Amino acid sequence: MNRDRFTVTFWGVRGGYPTPGPTTVKYGGNTTCVEIEVGKHRLIIDGGTGIIPLGRKIMQEHFATGEPIYATILITHTHHDHTQGFPFFVPTRLPESYLNFFGPKLLFGEPFEEFLGRVMHPPVFPIGLEELYSKRCIEETGRGDTIILTDPHELAQHYALGDAIPDTPDDVVIIKVDHGYHHPKNGILFYRISYKGHSVVIATDTEGYIGVDRRLVKFAQAADLLIHDAEYDEHEYAEEAVLRQGWGHSTWGMAVDVARAAEVKQLALIHHSPQHDDAYLEGMVTKAQAIFSNTILACEGESVELL
Ligand SMILES: [Zn+2]
Ligand SMILES: [Zn+2]
Repeated sequence: MNRDRFTVTFWGVRGGYPTPGPTTVKYGGNTTCVEIEVGKHRLIIDGGTGIIPLGRKIMQEHFATGEPIYATILITHTHHDHTQGFPFFVPTRLPESYLNFFGPKLLFGEPFEEFLGRVMHPPVFPIGLEELYSKRCIEETGRGDTIILTDPHELAQHYALGDAIPDTPDDVVIIKVDHGYHHPKNGILFYRISYKGHSVVIATDTEGYIGVDRRLVKFAQAADLLIHDAEYDEHEYAEEAVLRQGWGHSTWGMAVDVARAAEVKQLALIHHSPQHDDAYLEGMVTKAQAIFSNTILACEGESVELL
């Protein structure tokens, strides 16, 4: 296998709830899940329903190679559309799986590990997390943290803001974490994943500011790929019948503003509204491309190569 890779694959691109059917078949109806294969590592961002087919692919690889399963799973926040696929993520059930979870500190005093257990706990699901055979390390993370992945066989090195971070060789994976406050009610974690001088930033479920989210612009500066929430068309956001301001999502224009200010190389619009079909999404991205030409729609099953 070619280990020198930095590949971003979209497994779920939809916000809110899954939207199967002929009008969404091109860009996909699964909720948020992004796989990043980088160096020797597999990272998974969020566990919307897209993580279910990803789990099936990982199982096929496992049965074909006989190798253990290693994955680092980064959760942006705990809303349903980012966690509802976990109960059906089959690698959690295997003793040959080593899963390292990172998720947010929750406002309501509940440890992230307990929340994760609640996603698939009887009576809403027949099997509890504690009954699964996989080996799991579940950690909380937040603004200013740095997570360093050296070897998949070893636990991640986790540093808080202000900790001295050791010099690292070029071929380790470095994850930086920031906290966006503009998504109800616990905010959102942004992740920046870097490897060999290239980087991808994911900023889903975030709402733009007039004059741009300056902290996000700084966090995403010069990234190769920015994956940014673009749930709304411009007129929807400001429509008076259903005011969406404050709901914690962006327009394509807000995503473009961040991409331009941060001087990223490429922008992928994600968290497509369940009310938008394929044709509508293409109309939105055409308008975005007129301002920032290297813009794509995150599309289920498609990959972006960063190396
Ligand atoms: Zn969402
Ligand atoms: Zn959300």
